[in-house]
Amino acid sequence: MSRLLSVLFDYETVSSNNIKEIWVSELSRCLRYSFLARRTPVRFNAETLMKMHIGAGLHMRLQKILAKHGFEAEKRVERKTALGFKIVGRIDVYDPSEEAVYELKYTHHLGAIDKVKLSNYLRQLHYYMEMTEAKLGYLIIVHADGQVTEYRRTQRYTDLEARANAFGISVEENILPPRKPKPDSECAECPFFSFCWGGKK
Ligand code: SF4
Repeated sequence: MSRLLSVLFDYETVSSNNIKEIWVSELSRCLRYSFLARRTPVRFNAETLMKMHIGAGLHMRLQKILAKHGFEAEKRVERKTALGFKIVGRIDVYDPSEEAVYELKYTHHLGAIDKVKLSNYLRQLHYYMEMTEAKLGYLIIVHADGQVTEYRRTQRYTDLEARANAFGISVEENILPPRKPKPDSECAECPFFSFCWGGKK
């Protein structure tokens, strides 16, 4: 294998283990995954890694184009919970002229997006809307065949405070959050599948 591919395939994600700082992305997906990812560097297979690189490349290109039209890319947001946990995040794209939050996602799936994934994406969008007090939120999903799906939201209410406090306590007190009642599509793609469910997928 070439050195180029070795470098790309050796890529592993390491989550911060700052107890008082919680990322919105950690709260948007399975909390048990987020807890485990803080302790174990996560390695993905080559195919998944390349899909992640494609998605990251698309983000950079779109953000660069949009920045020329008054949109803010990678806007940093913060909020403190009543229990003192700091929630931090970076909004993909923010439009100050419409006070709108945009969450961009790339998927290699064609057709309708998986329900669990969609619910996690919308949760993330709602959290950013709450943190910025945005009036509008858009989830833009770009499929590998060039199809684009747009979801528009005007509702701001979320469970952000409760979920952040629950996750913060589990990290602070080293309590592993429970696994889901039964494995779902998020579990099927999860590197901790064997740990949670035993055996192979
Ligand atoms: S396998 Fe499922 S329950 Fe376990 S950490 Fe992954 S997503 Fe969460």
